[in-house]
Amino acid sequence: MAQSVKGTRDLFGNEIDWFQRIEDTARRTFKRHGYGEIRTPILEEIEVFKRSVGESSDIVHKEMYDFLDKGNRHVAMRPENTAGVVRAMIQHKLLASNDPQLLYYIGPMFRYERMQAGRYRQFWQIGAESFQVATPEAEAESLVMLYDFLVELGLRQLKFSINSVGTPACRPAFYAAFRAFFEAREASFCDDCHRRVQDNPLRVLDCKVPGCQAALEGHPLLVAFLDEPSRAHHDRLKEILTVLGLPFEENPRLVRGLDYYTRTAFEVLSTDLGAQSALLGGGRYDGLVKQLGGPDVPAFGWSIGLDRLAMLMQHLHGDAPRDVPALLIPLGEAATLKALALAREWWALGLPLQLETRGANLKKALTSANRQGVRRALILGDGELAQGVIAVKDLATGDQETWTLAEVPARLQAR
Ligand code: AMP
Repeated sequence: MAQSVKGTRDLFGNEIDWFQRIEDTARRTFKRHGYGEIRTPILEEIEVFKRSVGESSDIVHKEMYDFLDKGNRHVAMRPENTAGVVRAMIQHKLLASNDPQLLYYIGPMFRYERMQAGRYRQFWQIGAESFQVATPEAEAESLVMLYDFLVELGLRQLKFSINSVGTPACRPAFYAAFRAFFEAREASFCDDCHRRVQDNPLRVLDCKVPGCQAALEGHPLLVAFLDEPSRAHHDRLKEILTVLGLPFEENPRLVRGLDYYTRTAFEVLSTDLGAQSALLGGGRYDGLVKQLGGPDVPAFGWSIGLDRLAMLMQHLHGDAPRDVPALLIPLGEAATLKALALAREWWALGLPLQLETRGANLKKALTSANRQGVRRALILGDGELAQGVIAVKDLATGDQETWTLAEVPARLQAR
């Protein structure tokens, strides 16, 4: 029998309930801040990712789902959504005015990753991007939105970890200092890091090999090479976060896995799962739009893994609260016809109601209702039909009452 492809999975039952609750909370929170949704295609020309995420990143270098399509186009299934959003903004000339553009997305991403707990090859991300705003205030607005979204989901032990990775102008001096440091102990670094130090020395910092992390002890820090405007920007963001009471710490080694960040880079740390771990990250990417062929506009954004978040919700809150509708069970042909008409009326009023349509006998219908966790069965037999009433059985207690048909909507809604 066919199985789902390695690294992909089907979402159903409790997991999809959490996914939906998280997505609903995200949409509600983001709309409140004036963000609009954008949905870009899963397939993009591979150049979109090479020119944005960067050829030196693991995501592009090792993990891309790319192939030639039947028309010989080199395409890739998106490993993240910022590049696609930027491509769309440029293509549709949405950055022609100086107006801020606030956007969010929710959707699947694809990375050919080594399998480990909580890492998938198809996974979901929720993200937000704001274009045309260069200020630390814009970053604070986005971070407040993110924080409030996470708090609304019931997360409590949250802290921002922030850094400034400066602008391209700050980098040459840092690269020179970093390469000198690297050369002095190059034998301790892995082969990948030898490649990284040439392509992009910042990538060495997020190498996961323990030997490399040990060899990095005491390395030069990018923050020491910030130009004055970048330093002032960073200080202002810290000031705002302090005033707003958003908890944060500075992490001068934080650089994130993507090549396009400028100035602010951040992660959200949480101890809600026990040991402190990064829930998500993001940052400023002022050069990216221009790099992809658009105008020179500033941008800031972040994205969070939905799979991880759903797992966290399950861990913190148990099963997602389910609204299992009541089950309407008609007995006999005449009652079935009446039940269909009644159900339609009640659905139109917004009542959650499932209809037994198999012509099953009462015992069978109640047994499967119990299995599905239905709380209440509404039973319509010939006797009830004749009197204009309905028998209502509470499946948890076994108690049975008789309601008039007219009082059903109010009484179902009251629960
Ligand atoms: P990144 O784009 O690598 O910064 O990741 C952003 C978010 O996506 C994080 O919250 C990660 O947990 C999540 N994420 C990245 N890769 C995967 C994956 N392979 N499986 C599940 N979640 C992922």
